[in-house]
Amino acid sequence: MPEILDIAIIGGGAAGLATAIFAARHRPGLRIAILDGARKLGAKLLVSGGGRCNVTNVVVDPEHFFGGSPHIVKRVLNAFPAERAAQFFRDLGVKLHEEEHGKLFPDTNDAHTVLNALLAEAKRLDIALLTDHRVTKVRTKGDHFEIATQAAPLSASHLVLATGGRSLPKTGSDGTGYTLAESLGHTIVPTTPALAPLLLAPDFFHAKLSGLTHEVTLTVRAENAKPQTITGSLLWTHFGISGPVVLNVSRLWHRAKLENRHATVTADFLPGDTPESVEKKLIALAAAQPRTHLNNALSSLLPARLIDAVLTHIALRPNTQMSQFARDQRQSLTRALTALPLPITDSRGFNFAEVTAGGVPLTEIDSATMQSRKTPGLHLVGEILDVDGRIGGFNFQWAWSTAHIAGRALAANFATGRA
Ligand SMILES: Cc1cc2nc3c(=O)[nH]c(=O)nc-3n(C[C@H](O)[C@H](O)[C@H](O)COP(=O)(O)OP(=O)(O)OC[C@H]3O[C@@H](n4cnc5c(N)ncnc54)[C@H](O)[C@@H]3O)c2cc1C
Repeated sequence: MPEILDIAIIGGGAAGLATAIFAARHRPGLRIAILDGARKLGAKLLVSGGGRCNVTNVVVDPEHFFGGSPHIVKRVLNAFPAERAAQFFRDLGVKLHEEEHGKLFPDTNDAHTVLNALLAEAKRLDIALLTDHRVTKVRTKGDHFEIATQAAPLSASHLVLATGGRSLPKTGSDGTGYTLAESLGHTIVPTTPALAPLLLAPDFFHAKLSGLTHEVTLTVRAENAKPQTITGSLLWTHFGISGPVVLNVSRLWHRAKLENRHATVTADFLPGDTPESVEKKLIALAAAQPRTHLNNALSSLLPARLIDAVLTHIALRPNTQMSQFARDQRQSLTRALTALPLPITDSRGFNFAEVTAGGVPLTEIDSATMQSRKTPGLHLVGEILDVDGRIGGFNFQWAWSTAHIAGRALAANFATGRA
C-alpha cells in the first residue's frame, strides 16, 4: 500500500465497487483501495433478487424512492440513468433481460455474474480490494483522512463512505457507517427497516393461509399523511405477510410508527373493484345461485382458502346459502373483502429487511458530486444516504447513480484540486 492512498472507499458492496470503477476509469493510475470488514466481497449482492440480482429497472423515477427530496433524487438519477447502468453492465459482458414490472436481471439468472463482472473490472483497473479490513474510526488530519481498521491503519486524501445501511447485518452492513459519518460531522435521519415482511397479531388468520399468494391492494392511512395505496402480490406466511406489495408498505408503516403517527393498513382483496361493484357482484351471485353456499359462490372471485378465512373472521358461516345471506351480512362481507384492517404488530426487522430507510440526509451532500457539505474530501454513496427505493431494482440503481457521480467527481479532483 502507498503511504497515502488517493481514494479510500469504506465498503465494497454495490456502491463502493462501482465508485472505485468509475473513478479509476475516469482517471487511470489513481491509487484506490476498497476496505471492507467482510472476508469476501458481495454477500448482499449475491442474495439480492432471490440470488438473481435485479440490477435496475427499465423505468426509474423519483416516485420509486422515499426519503430525500424528490428534486435531488431526480438530479442524481438523471446524472446516471437506468439505461446507462444497463449499458455499463452490458459493456462488462453481463447480458440483461427484462421481466415483469420492468425489472432487469442478468440472462444467467445468477447474481454471481454481476458480482464477478464488477470484481473483474476492479481487478483490471488495479483497485486494491482489502477484505478483513473493518474500519473502526476515521478522522481528518491536515489535508487527509486517517483510517483505523482491524488490520493496519491507512491514510487517504479522499474518503468514500459506502457502508450501506443496517439491513441484513450479517452481510457486514451493520450500521457502523452511520457512526463514521457522525464522527465526520453528519447527522443521521433515524433509521427503520424498509422492504421488510410484516408480522400480524398471532390470533389473526394468516397462519392458516401460509404459502398462498394473490394480488391485493394495500392502503396505508397514517395520521398527517395522504393515504397511500399500493397494489401487488401478497404472500401469507406463518408469521404474517410478505411479498412485494407488503415489502413496499412496510416502510410507510415503520416511518409512521417512528414518528408516533397512528397508522392502519387495510387490504382490498379485489383490486380493480369498488365496494359498490363488489356488492353488486354479491347481489348478482345470490340471484343466480340462491342455493349455493357462500364459500362456493365466492370461489369465482377469490382463492377458496382466503374466502373461508375471511368469512370465519367476520363470523359468517361459509355454508350459508346465498338466498339466506342478509343485507347487513352482505355489507359486512363487502367491507371485509375491500378494506379488511390488518393487525400489524411489527416488521421482521433489519435481519429480514432488504433496505434501510433513513440515513445521512441529502441536504448534507452536494448532489452534483456526492461530496459531503460537512467534511471536504468525503463522499457518500448508496444506501448510507437517506434514500430508499421500492422493490424492483431501484435500490441498486441508487447505488450505481450515486457511485457514478462520486467516481467522476473524485477523478476530476485529481486534475484540479485536492489531490
Ligand atoms: C435480501 C436482499 C435482496 C435485495 N434485492 C435487491 C434487488 O434485487 N434489487 C435492488 O435494487 N436492491 C436489492 N436489495 C437492496 C440492495 O442490495 C442494497 O440497496 C444495495 O446493496 C446497497 O448497496 P451499498 O453498496 O450502498 O451497501 P451494501 O451492499 O450494504 O454494502 C456495504 C458494504 O460495506 C461494508 N461495511 C459496512 N461497515 C463497514 C465498516 N465499518 N468497515 C468496513 N466495511 C464496512 C459491508 O461489509 C458491505 O460489504 C436487496 C437487499 C437484500 C438484503
